[in-house]
Amino acid sequence: MSKVLIIGAGGVGSVVVHKCAQLPHVFSDILLASRTKSKCDKIASDIGGGKIKTAQVDADNVPELVAFIKSFNPKLVINVALPYQDLTIMDACLETGVHYLDTANYEPKDVAKFEYSWQWAYQEKFKKAGLMALLGCGFDPGVTNIFTKHAAVNHFDEIHYLDIVDCNAGSHGKAFATNFNPEINIREITQKGKYWENGQWIEIEPMSIHQPIDYPNVGPKESYLLFHEELESLVKNFPTIKRARFWMTFGQQYLTHLEVLQNVGMTSIAPVKFKGIDIVPLEFLKAVLPDPGTLGENYTGQTSIGCQIKGIKNGKDVTYFIWNNCHHADCYKEVKAQGVSYTTGVPAMIGAKMMLEGHWMKPGVYNTEEFDPKPFMDDLYKYGLPWHEKVGAELAFTY
Ligand code: NDP
Repeated sequence: MSKVLIIGAGGVGSVVVHKCAQLPHVFSDILLASRTKSKCDKIASDIGGGKIKTAQVDADNVPELVAFIKSFNPKLVINVALPYQDLTIMDACLETGVHYLDTANYEPKDVAKFEYSWQWAYQEKFKKAGLMALLGCGFDPGVTNIFTKHAAVNHFDEIHYLDIVDCNAGSHGKAFATNFNPEINIREITQKGKYWENGQWIEIEPMSIHQPIDYPNVGPKESYLLFHEELESLVKNFPTIKRARFWMTFGQQYLTHLEVLQNVGMTSIAPVKFKGIDIVPLEFLKAVLPDPGTLGENYTGQTSIGCQIKGIKNGKDVTYFIWNNCHHADCYKEVKAQGVSYTTGVPAMIGAKMMLEGHWMKPGVYNTEEFDPKPFMDDLYKYGLPWHEKVGAELAFTY
């Protein structure tokens, strides 16, 4: 029975709160805080029963956060605000003696670059304070790391090739919308792609490598090679990996809109003067695009995310595929969310549960593959994200 503070009341935050509220024996007291309190109140009223407390907080401001955390005195902070707030919330957790969890690695607001170095640098501070920080505990990163660990423990002596394959074969009926925060999403996919091969990172032009990949229950979809943060921790924690890549599907309509927006400068993060004030085009674009948290109602289709792996076991080549498929409509029925928020929010709840129940608890800063995958994999089944695996699978790639 623990008090938990959830920061961020967007699409993902709403799922985390709904899922935590379903387990009062673990999350006995829940406070949802965000920049805009009315969004917290709406989520709390959807859940009902006076189960969720709400508050306003500016997570960019460390002294404000410290005073706020002290006033509630939680055991854990679940950060589902934006990557920009990771370091301020970690600082506040250190100052107040509270454990920390997030779903996306730190990214400075003025440079579109994400990597773990900033958060890994907190390792000694968290160890010394006897506190734990669990980084990147959504689906990808998060579950994809745990899938890889599960494969390493149960099916391989050495993993050599890892391809993470992420498909959203859903339709929300909008001309153009992103499935999570538009600013973070567009920054991620418009930067250069990158993959790991033979001990080094290979950089490519954005979206310049693509191929069709056959997804379970979906069929072949054109998939684009991107840099994704879990590659960074996975190649560090599994040094036998010779090549690690991340692939994501995009529909032609999405790509056409994105190309036009880029061409006219709307995806830029450099401020421009508008009627005498500085505005950032991408921030303005976010304000006019649909809120990802509202896409769920008429969303049809499903997501399919997994890991295709090749390596060796007992001296023999092994191929292996592990994946989850998730229907948008089922997510909406359960927690009024679309599948991308759901597949992120459920693992965040389970990660928090792992920490609070002591299955995963050691001082320091960790990625999800650094723990025993079994209790987490069992909970994925129980709490809405069942997974499937196939040894000897036919994989989409050449080796
Ligand atoms: P949203 O934009 O929908 O929600 C973000 C929330 O954070 C909003 O409620 C926002 O407040 C709040 N917020 C922003 N800045 C502050 C601040 N300074 N202080 C307090 N609250 C703040 O984003 P999503 O829910 O789509 O995404 C949440 C996180 O999940 C992101 O970090 C995203 O990268 C990550 N993610 C991870 C995935 C994974 O699989 N690992 C997949 C998808 C997302 P306001 O309403 O006022 O704007």
